[in-house]
This record gives sequence, C-alpha cells and structure tokens, in this order.
Amino acid sequence: MNQKNVVYHIPCNSCDSCYIGETGNKFCTRKYQHEYDIKTQKKKNGIGDHMRKSKHKINWSNKTFLEIEKDWGRRRIKEALYINSINPSSEIDPTKLMNPEKGTEIAACWKEFHPEIRSILKKATAKNMPKNISRKTSRKITRNKTNLQIG
Ligand SMILES: [Zn+2]
Repeated sequence: MNQKNVVYHIPCNSCDSCYIGETGNKFCTRKYQHEYDIKTQKKKNGIGDHMRKSKHKINWSNKTFLEIEKDWGRRRIKEALYINSINPSSEIDPTKLMNPEKGTEIAACWKEFHPEIRSILKKATAKNMPKNISRKTSRKITRNKTNLQIG
C-alpha cells in the first residue's frame, strides 16, 4: 500500500470493467483521493461513476501494481499502453474501462503490441481478479512476461 510510482489496476467486482491509473505518490494516498472523490462526487471520477451507474462494487484489495516506474513520462506511457490494449477503440467502452479518459496519447504503431500487453495484464492481475471473473480470464494466459519493457 505504501508503494510509490505505480501503474495500478482495479477490477470491478461484478463485471469485466476495470480502472487503470498511475501515481507518483504512495498508492494509499491515491486510493484515499479516489475514495474522497467518490464520496463527495465533486470531481469526475471514473470508479465512482461506474459504481453509481451500474450499482457495481469494487474491492480495493483486488488492486494490482502493474508497473513500478519512477519516471513520470514513462509511467504515463505505460498507463496508456495498458488502457489502449484493453480498450483499443478511440472511444471509451464502459464495459472494458471505468476511466473517464484514456490518458496520454501514444503512437498508433503500439497497436501491434496490444495482444502481448493484454496477456501481460491478464497474467499480472489473475490472482487479484474477483472470483466469478478470474476463471474466464486466467484461461487465456499463455505467456510468462510480467512487465512492459520500454526503451
Ligand atoms: Zn462493473
């Protein structure tokens, strides 16, 4: 929980949608901000919107740290790569993603790597997926890579 400089993944407990985020602060601080925004509804908040509209729940303990990356620019790119691999179309598909926006823009050539990035994501998140969802996704895992290599 005190890990800094992370790209993180939060699955919905009730559907296949998820939230991908990044922070340079401690994860627990970012989680507190999310919870505050959900409670106050002052800021646009992807997780809060999803919970309100669908009546679904999330469980913070199902979070996965996908990447630990100190460099802000690289962290933003990694976040966007995960987001775009889950949700390749330019519009956000709420059945795939809770995020209100897709983050930093990345070059179209990365599309080629979407299947690979998806398999990295599935392997990394398999043990933290809610039980009714994990069976479906864990079956598709074939590769053993755990982190994105950029640069
Ligand atoms: Zn949901």
